[in-house]
Amino acid sequence: MRLSQFFLPTLKETPSEAQIVSHRLMLRAGMVRQLSAGIYSWLPLGYRVLKKIEQIVREEQDAIGCNELLMPTIQPAELWQESGRYEDYGLEMLRITDRHDRNMLFGPTNEEVITDIFRKDVRSYKQVPQLMYHIQWKFRDEIRPRFGVMRGREFLMKDAYSFDIDYESSRHAYNKMFLAYCRTFSRLGVKAIPMVADTGPIGGDLSHEFIILADTGESEVFCDKKWLEKDLTGQGVDLNDRTNLEGWVQKTLQDYAATEEKHVPENCPVAGDDLIATRGIEVGHIFHFGTKYSEPMGATVLGPDGKEVPVMMGSYGIGVSRLVGALIEASHDENGIIWPEEVAPFRVGLINLRTGDDACDAACEDIYGKLKNAKIDVLYDDRDIRAGGKFADMDLIGLPWQIVIGPKGLANGVVELKNRKSGERSEVTLEAALNRIGA
Ligand code: ATP
Ligand code: MG
Repeated sequence: MRLSQFFLPTLKETPSEAQIVSHRLMLRAGMVRQLSAGIYSWLPLGYRVLKKIEQIVREEQDAIGCNELLMPTIQPAELWQESGRYEDYGLEMLRITDRHDRNMLFGPTNEEVITDIFRKDVRSYKQVPQLMYHIQWKFRDEIRPRFGVMRGREFLMKDAYSFDIDYESSRHAYNKMFLAYCRTFSRLGVKAIPMVADTGPIGGDLSHEFIILADTGESEVFCDKKWLEKDLTGQGVDLNDRTNLEGWVQKTLQDYAATEEKHVPENCPVAGDDLIATRGIEVGHIFHFGTKYSEPMGATVLGPDGKEVPVMMGSYGIGVSRLVGALIEASHDENGIIWPEEVAPFRVGLINLRTGDDACDAACEDIYGKLKNAKIDVLYDDRDIRAGGKFADMDLIGLPWQIVIGPKGLANGVVELKNRKSGERSEVTLEAALNRIGA
C-alpha cells in the first residue's frame, strides 16, 4: 500500500477527550473515529488490526472443533421473555420497535438465539457434544462508555456456546475452550491470566475471566507473581484426551489468581511480595451455566436411556475490539504503538527520505515490488513531506520493521533497517534487510 493513497489521518496533537494511552494512540494513529458515544468507525489502519485479531481468534476456535456460524444482530423480544432475561437485562439493552409494533432488540449477547437454534434441530444425545461460535457486533447501552474501544457501546465479540449431555462432558468443553483461550492470547503476544471470576446468582465454580495486567484496567485483580513467568502456549496438550487436558488445566490453575469479587484476603494463599495486587483488562470470559437457558427454553435431548434431559451449556466470550486497545496498553512507548508481529497492520514501513529524487524513488519502487512479491505487507511512505514527519508517523503507527531509503545510503549500497520494538538500527545491504525481515 502506498501512503499517498492510504487514508491515514494521523494527529500531532493529543486529543483532549482521551484519558488513557491506547485511546490517545488509536485516535492519533488514525485507527478509529467516534461517531457517537461509545460507537466508532474503524478507519483502514485500525480495521486491518481488528481483522488480524479476529482471524487469530477464529483459527484457535476452529482448532478445537468449534463451528463458525453467524447469528443476526437484531433479535425478537419473545426469546428473551422465554429465558426470563428481557426484564432482567435492564437499561443496557437497546430496545427497538419495528413497523408492526413488534418488540425487537439489538443483541447484547446470544445465549437465547443459539439455544433456539439448537432446540429446533437437535433431538438426540447422538447429536451432541456441539460447539458453535460467531464473531458479531454487540450493543450494550453502557452507562459510562469510555476509554475508546475498550468500553464501547457497539463492540465486536467472539461468543461461543457449548452443548453437552452431562456435566463431565460439559466440563471437557470448558477445558477445551480454556486451552483455546490460552493459545489465542499467547499468539496475540500478550499474557492474559485466567482468574477465578464471579458467577453471580447462577453459582458454580466454573467461570474464569482472562485478564491482561495494566494500571489502566477497570478491574482490581490479585495474583501470584508466578503467573508472570508461566507458559500459557499449551503446547503438546492432547485435546481429545480428557484426562490429559483436565490435568493441564488444573496444573495451569494451581497458582492463585482472582478478581476483586472473588478475592478474600483472609483466605488468600499468597502474601507479601509474592502477591501482585493490581488492575487488569478483561479480554475474555468463559462460563459454565448448565441448564440456565436450556430448561426454560426447552432445549432437551433424549438420552441413551430414552429419558429427555435439558442440555448442559457454557458460553465463552472474547472482546475482539477491546483487544485492539488492550494490546496497545500492553505495548507502546513515548513515540507510539509497538505492534506484536502477528497483528501488525503492515509488517514493514518503507520510508523514502527524498521523494522526487530519481535514485531514491527507483530504489523504493524496487524494494516495494520485492516485498509485495514476497507477500510481505508493506506500507510505502511515498508522500512528498519532510523526513521528520515520516519518521514520526511511522513510529506512531508502530509497524514492526522500518526500511529507510536515502541518497547517502544508496551511494554506499546500504539501507537503514530499524526494529520498532528494540529500537535497534543497522545499515545493511538491501538483501540483508530483506533476509532479516524474512522476505
Ligand atoms: P465487563 O465486566 O467489562 O463489563 P462483561 O463481563 O459484561 O464485561 P461479557 O459478557 O463477559 O462482558 O463479554 C465478553 C467479553 O466482551 C468481555 O470479556 C470483554 O472483553 C468484552 N466486552 C464486554 N463489554 C464490552 C464493552 N462495553 N466494550 C468492549 N468490549 C466489551
Ligand atoms: Mg465478563
